[in-house]
Formats: sequence, structure tokens, C-alpha cells
Amino acid sequence: MDLETPIEFIKGIGPERAKFIRNVLGITTVEDFLTFYPLRYIDKSKIYQIGDLKQEPETEIQFKGKITDLQEIGYGKGQKRLSAKFRDETGTLELVWFRYSNWMKEQIPLNREIFIFGKVNLFNGNYSMPHPEIEVDEKKALYGSLLPIYSGSEKLSKRGINNKFFQNILSEITQSLPLLMQENLPEDLMKNLKLIGRIPAFYHIHFPKDFYHFEHANRRIKFDEAFFFQLGYGLKKLHQKTSVIGNPFPKIGENFNNFYENALPFELTNAQKRVLKEIRTDMKKPIQMNRLLQGDVGSGKTMVALLTMLIAMDNGFQSCMMAPTEILAQQHFNSIHELLKDTDIKVRLLTGSTKTSERKIIHEELLSGELAILVGTHAVLEDIVQFKNLGLAIIDEQHRFGVAQRAKLWAKNKIPPHILVMTATPIPRTLAMSFYSDLDVSVIDEMPVGRKPIITAHRREQDRLSVFRFAKDEIEKGRQIYFVYPLIEESETLDYKNLMENFDHITTFFEGKNVTMLHGRMKPAEKDAAMQYFASGKAEIMVATTVIEVGVNVPNASVMVIESAERFGLSQLHQLRGRVGRGAEQSYCILMTSDKLSKESRTRIKTMTETNDGFKISEVDMQLRGPGDILGTQQSGVVDFKKLDLVADGKIIKTAKTAVELLLTTDPQLTKPENLDMRNYYIKLYKGKNKWSRIS
Ligand code: ADP
Ligand code: MG
Repeated sequence: MDLETPIEFIKGIGPERAKFIRNVLGITTVEDFLTFYPLRYIDKSKIYQIGDLKQEPETEIQFKGKITDLQEIGYGKGQKRLSAKFRDETGTLELVWFRYSNWMKEQIPLNREIFIFGKVNLFNGNYSMPHPEIEVDEKKALYGSLLPIYSGSEKLSKRGINNKFFQNILSEITQSLPLLMQENLPEDLMKNLKLIGRIPAFYHIHFPKDFYHFEHANRRIKFDEAFFFQLGYGLKKLHQKTSVIGNPFPKIGENFNNFYENALPFELTNAQKRVLKEIRTDMKKPIQMNRLLQGDVGSGKTMVALLTMLIAMDNGFQSCMMAPTEILAQQHFNSIHELLKDTDIKVRLLTGSTKTSERKIIHEELLSGELAILVGTHAVLEDIVQFKNLGLAIIDEQHRFGVAQRAKLWAKNKIPPHILVMTATPIPRTLAMSFYSDLDVSVIDEMPVGRKPIITAHRREQDRLSVFRFAKDEIEKGRQIYFVYPLIEESETLDYKNLMENFDHITTFFEGKNVTMLHGRMKPAEKDAAMQYFASGKAEIMVATTVIEVGVNVPNASVMVIESAERFGLSQLHQLRGRVGRGAEQSYCILMTSDKLSKESRTRIKTMTETNDGFKISEVDMQLRGPGDILGTQQSGVVDFKKLDLVADGKIIKTAKTAVELLLTTDPQLTKPENLDMRNYYIKLYKGKNKWSRIS
């Protein structure tokens, strides 16, 4: 037997059953069984007392007492069930059997001290236990270790594939562990990180002697997952660093210095300075930069982007900056254009709605090198858009661009441009550490000074009048207000109708004020006009759907009312809220919801009212939705770990990352004798699965 042995060769499984197990559980080899980890464990070393039960217990538990009053009860259409009382010194519960034979009924031991074990249900204040396991032998009942419970189903049980079956098979397999696997981590590493061996870990994950053993086994197995995953990325990155050349930007020149000294409208925050230094260090090298810039909404990423582009320019290169939507691209263009107004640096905007005549100019100026900075949507990816010398590509909002699109940017220059990816939705650190291991990460973790945290409140329909009055007061003070409505995706028509009705309500209530509207059905030019009307201050109120989610910057808007807030995701709510709090005034975000909220909606709303920290919010979001959903479904497989939990295991992931970094600086080819077993394991692990598994 080895790890790849098909399961039909395991004692107790024939070809028939093997086929069934393969089909239902996807288990095909001995190794699959080994990594079919228990869902949980049962502690049979403890006897519970009925009188101590306060609620329905989560797990199966054991009692000691007597069965009495066994009887058959008819119910339904001629159906019968078997019922009995079970008493210990502290209370009584009901035992129930829905399926039983006469033989089984006769076997039930009455009026003598026995042990029962099973799941306790609470219904109408009464405790009951369906289909209890009964044990008369005290020695057998009190089992001195944790019993593994495997995920099963009725379908499987019918074929005899129940928990007992899994226990037997795994007991069989774990007996042979020393023949099946060998240690894959060097001794020193294990010692330093207090990791138990791989073989004991696999034994104790299935049959832990106690919780202490379980914890150690669990930690070791999680560590392996994190470690070898990071090792894969680490090697890939190393490979990239040494083979993908980039244009070195050694200089800081006139463009940067002039701007920095004469046009910078504010002092950079320390975080902005630090991040800029990290970027600059990267770009000095003749190696392509691949950096992720994380920063909360409003942390000032645009300025960092601009300064980075000025460095590119000082070194004789063009830059482009790409945003996922037309509105956002427009906003970026506006702010960059405004910041550069006292310089002679040329910047242009290219989107789907750019006029042909303008396009022609852009194409020409890009080729001649006259145009230093191009801002746009993915229109910039089109083949016809050719640069003289593209040295830097900045991508805003990573989530919406795929890897393929990144690759297209690479191809825009003979030597690929440096890449800076910016995300406005912070990604939980653990996720960034694992998923974006191929990117270096910079974090702006500090807001510009003088920002007042946005006050967020939860309100319901009955509070509407006071919410509207509050909004009116703010308008009287000279502020502007957003009202945001969710998109009803199933019905754009309904959505539109809904928005129109609300628009009417608002115009009526806020009589004499100018109300403008923004929604997905409008043409780009109409959207622009509506935005402009609001941004210029001519309209006090903007009624919008989520099209305003990204980028919109109107500093005088200080109140955002989000309608049906329970229908928005957390990161979306956070993004929306980021549209206020951009000026000097105290800003407010009011989350309107219906009275009835699901548990998850309540958590989302509560999180929003409690914190403004995008990183904290992303952590909660990941707990609610799981890492796969946060990254987008196509990418979820990438973080499909068996044991490792990206939400809870940040510490292990960090330890593994540090260990990988140390390893790759001391032995980048994994050729040291103490690392050979690791190397072999790694190669086997990624055999055929990964094109970047090359260690020369
Ligand atoms: P985001 O990171 O969300 O893209 P922006 O770059 O749009 O944030 O910046 C938000 C606002 O903060 C802008 O109005 C910008 O001018 C301002 N800002 C950026 N950096 C600073 C700073 N260091 N001090 C003061 N204001 C700043
Ligand atoms: Mg931005």
C-alpha cells in the first residue's frame, strides 16, 4: 500500500463499494482517505447529567441511567414509533426510535444501569434523543480518547458506509503511516516552530489521544498546507524576479520634483511616503515591479499613483492608468488633470465613449511619445492602442480585472511595464498573503489628517420622517445628500420604476431643492451631466443606484442615506459610504432597513455602524461569505484548502510565510541536503498541477 493505492485494495472495501465511495465522496486513493479529516470529535470520556442541560447540545453526548416505560406509539397512517423514558439522578428524557424491528425492541435493556449516547434534541421544553447508541459495558462506554466523526449521509449509511466504517478504514491506514509517508520538513524548522512530525500528525488528526494531541496535529497539518502553498508562490516569484526584466527607473527628476515642491496640495501622510519609497525601490531595479497597493477608501491612493507616474516620466517612459468603469476613469482623469494644471504634462482620457477624432489624436500622441499619461477604462487594452514606450501601468480596483487583462498590458511594451495594482476594497491580510503572494504588497494604513470619522446609524421605516428632517437640516447648512437605492437585478424595469417613485417622493419632501438622478440606464453623457450638476453644487440631492459606488468624489456631500441597506454586501456598503467624509465637515451614513433582518444582515449593519476600518470590514466580510466569494468564483479554487481556514488561521499563515521567505533566501533551489525531502515532496505535490513548479 502507498498513498496512491486505489481504495478497492484497502481491507474491507471491494470494487463495488470503492466505486460507490468514489462517486459519492470523490475519494479514490489511500491519500484521499487520509485527508478525509474528521468533522469533529466526540468525547466519550465524560458522562453528562440531564439536569445540567440548558439548551440543545451541539454534539452527541453520553448519559448514565435507566431505560423505563418502553412502548409503541401509533401515529400518522398506521405508522408506529418506539418510545421510552430514560432517567438519571437529575432528570428524564425521551428516547425515540422511528425505525426498528421486533428483534431490536427486545434487545433494549430495561430497568438497569446502562449508558446511552447520541444527539439530544429540545422541543417544546422537552429533551429527547432519537436512536440512541446503547452500551451496557461501562468499560466500553467510557472511552478514554476522542472519537472521530466523519461526514456521512443516509445514502452512505445504507451501504454500510457509516462512521464506524470510516473509523475502521482509517485505523487500518494509520497503522501503516510509517510506510506511507515520510517527514517533509527539516528537523530544525520543526523544532524552531514547535511542530510535531508529519506521521504523528496524521495519526492524531484521526485518533487523537486527547485535545492536546489534536491541537498539535491540527496545527501541523494546517502549517503544511500554508507552507507548501506559499512555497509554490515564493518559487514562482523568485523565478519571475530573476527572469522577467523590467526597465529600471533610477532617476527622480524635474517632473517629480517640480510637482512635489510647487504643486502638491498637502503634506503626504507617513503611510503615503512609505509606500512611495517601496514602489521607488522596486522600480529602480531592472526587474518588473508587480505590486499591490492596498488602502482604504479615501486614504489617498490617487496621489501615490500620480507621483509614481511622474517618476516614470522622469525616466523617459509613458504611463497608463486603468479603471473599471467610465465614471471612475473620468474621476481619475479629472483629479489628475486638475493636479497637473500648472505643469505642461499632458494627460488624456480614453474610454468607450471617446470620440473618434479624439481617439486619433490619442493614438498619434501615444506613438510619438508626446502623451505622458493616459487614463482610461479597458479601452486602453485594445490592440490599436500602441505606446512609444510604456513603462508603468496602474490598475485601479483589482477585483474587476482578470489575469488575462493584466497580461495584455504586459504585451504593450517590449520590456513589460511595471505594474501597480490598487484596490479600494481592502482584502483581508491573510488572503492577500496567500492569494497575492505573487505580488508584493504595500499598505496605506493611515488616513490624511483632519478627517472626521463618518458617523453611521441604522434606521428603520418608522424613523423615515426624522431621517428626512435631518437631511433637510444638513442641506440648510449648505451640505449635499446622496440617496442610494439597490439594484433589483431580476427586473431592470421594476428597478427603474422604484427609483422614479422614490425620486418623486424626495422631490416632494425636499420642495425647492434641486434633485438629480444617476442610474445604469442613462447614457454616459447623461450620467456625466447629472454628476456634473451635483458636483458643481447646483443640485443639493443626488438620487442614485449603485453606479456611484466607485470613485465619485464630491467633498461637500456629507450625508448618504442607503435605502434597503440589508440588500447590499458589506464591501459594497463600505464603498458607498466612502463617497461621503471627503471634505472637512462631519459626515453621516444612514442605513435604512426593514424591520425583519436575517442574522447575516444584522451582522453586516452592525459592523458598518461600529467601524470605519476597511480592513476590519473585509475580515468580517470574509467570515460571512468565505474567501472564494471575495475573490470571485473563478478564483475560489485557488484558496481551496482542506484544513487551513483563511479567516481563523492568520497566525499559522504568517508563520508559514516567514518560514518560506527564510528558506528561499538561504536555499533558493532547495538543494541543501536537509531540504531534499521537502523538495521531493514539493515536486510531487505540484506534479502536473502547476506550470510554475519549476525548480531547476
Ligand atoms: P482613494 O485612496 O480612495 O483613491 P483618493 O486618492 O481619492 O483616495 O483621496 C481622497 C481624498 O483625500 C482626495 O480628495 C485627496 O485629494 C485627499 N488626500 C490624499 N492624500 C492626502 C493627504 N496626504 N492629505 C490630505 N488630503 C489628502
Ligand atoms: Mg480612488
